[in-house]
Amino acid sequence: MTEQEKGPASNFIAAIVSADIRANKNDGKVMTRFPPEPNGYLHIGHAKSICLNFGLAQDFNGVCNLRFDDTNPTKEEQQYIDSIKEDVRWLGFDWRDRLYFASDYFEKFYEFAVYLIKKGKAYVDSLSADEIREYRGTLTRPGRESTYRQRSVEENLDLFERMKQGEFPDGTHVLRAKINMASGNLNMRDPVMYRILHASHHRTGNTWCIYPMYDFAHGQSDAIEGITHSICTLEFEDHRPLYDWFIDELELACHPQQIEFARLNLTYTIMSKRKLVRLVAEGHVQDWDDPRLPTISGLRRRGFTPEAIRDFCGRIGVAKKDSTVDMALLEHCLREDLNKRAPRVMAVLKPLKVVLENYPEGQVEELDAVNNPEDPAAGSRKVPFARELYIEQDDFMEEPVKKFFRLAPGREVRLRYGYFITCTGIKKDDATGEILELRCTYDPATRGGNAPDGRKVKATLHWVSAQHSLPAEVRLYSHLFTRENPAAAEEGEDFTTYINPESLEILSGCRLEPNLADARPESIYQFERLGYFCADRHDCTGGRLVFNRSVTLRDAWTKIKKKA
Ligand code: ATP
Ligand code: MG
Repeated sequence: MTEQEKGPASNFIAAIVSADIRANKNDGKVMTRFPPEPNGYLHIGHAKSICLNFGLAQDFNGVCNLRFDDTNPTKEEQQYIDSIKEDVRWLGFDWRDRLYFASDYFEKFYEFAVYLIKKGKAYVDSLSADEIREYRGTLTRPGRESTYRQRSVEENLDLFERMKQGEFPDGTHVLRAKINMASGNLNMRDPVMYRILHASHHRTGNTWCIYPMYDFAHGQSDAIEGITHSICTLEFEDHRPLYDWFIDELELACHPQQIEFARLNLTYTIMSKRKLVRLVAEGHVQDWDDPRLPTISGLRRRGFTPEAIRDFCGRIGVAKKDSTVDMALLEHCLREDLNKRAPRVMAVLKPLKVVLENYPEGQVEELDAVNNPEDPAAGSRKVPFARELYIEQDDFMEEPVKKFFRLAPGREVRLRYGYFITCTGIKKDDATGEILELRCTYDPATRGGNAPDGRKVKATLHWVSAQHSLPAEVRLYSHLFTRENPAAAEEGEDFTTYINPESLEILSGCRLEPNLADARPESIYQFERLGYFCADRHDCTGGRLVFNRSVTLRDAWTKIKKKA
């Protein structure tokens, strides 16, 4: 059974749905939806909502709609719609033919509005936006009724029709629900239902110059579609009475049950689309799929797998109380997934040349290397071994400190899949003192990695053959922010203040074993001892080898933090 077939861990929402089915509510049917506003790319928080909504439908034999809540023409773009569809599919979910747009219901919303006006439950207000805000009151001060609240039904119908006909400029009138200006719930103080906006909509073009507010569209869209369980994040708890009021006053046949859950927050990143838009627009990152972003497309480009993300969403669970999840958990889920299936290869990120003085010039041996110790079926491959090799600069110290067991002058270590070598000399640049290459000898009797006399070495190093290895660029990433919670910026500071200036390190002189010659974009490998690396979706083409470090083998960050 795959982790997806098991479905999400049972949670309080699944319990509600299950009880509803047992009580034969909604004739035992389950219909959920994932309702993004197409005003940005999806992020890992959305993945939580996607897994929850599609997961409930899967678990309870229901269906899940993908609906774009596209009521704001000024911030929405086709680009976002396309990316959202791609990301949902990539995550492994399928809305089949159930793709909807709130903009498809604009005519219906208009009729709903007219219905409420006729019922005396909505009125055209002509206060300015500032006045409306001022009249609204605060949590401690009740609101004041607008002087226009007493307009007759006829006058309201006439004005609303003329708003629709485009007679008035933006901001001159709005349509408001007539509820209660003294309500303890600010959302119930005659909320705006429609505003005038002479803007072209990406789907309806210039058909409309009045647009429904999100709060007047969202609940009704759910009702129109026949959604049984309308699952949303906690900030909409206070909106629920309003959504209920609209549906009751409109006497709609379907009354979806709204259930709120806590949104996902992650350390060292931000999740609000408004802020993500800024990071992209202001050039703090390259684009929406920058591997440092928590966007689905960024995580994908970084090397995250749909399986790892779904596993993560299952592990964090669904709760009623806000909390922040450690980024290390997300990385852990990726490590677990890739450990099972990523082929192992050898790559040297910061090469240091090694010349084996006693190895015959021109000789090349093909050594057997294991593709994946976790998966015997993955088999083995050949890697060429020759007189000149590269090892990592970090694997050598001229004057080794305590507990450094890797290569040093006079010391013997093992080369993975190869021989024992001993460092016999260092060649340096006379002027700078920089180490140019190491002179070593190898012991031919240790082929395969063991000495016949039983002597031990304390380290095994990865390596590549100098002449056979391939040049590559490797990009190393760390947290985009230096603070656990960059959104909580101090007074006068902006969240961008906490951008980590060292979140990206580009290494251009890396060397890869020749088996990676035709690594396809998005293929993921474990570079032995270094971590998991993903061939870049865009740049690893045309003979160029470009890899992104998806995650290190161990959680280096937590260790660094503890030390500090
Ligand atoms: P943001 O606050 O990032 O701009 P949003 O809530 O405006 O996000 P929508 O496009 O409205 O984004 O979200 C679509 C769905 O995803 C909604 O049902 C919303 O509740 C859910 N969602 C958004 N962010 C999160 C999150 N961090 N955790 C869980 N669910 C989320
Ligand atoms: Mg929203």
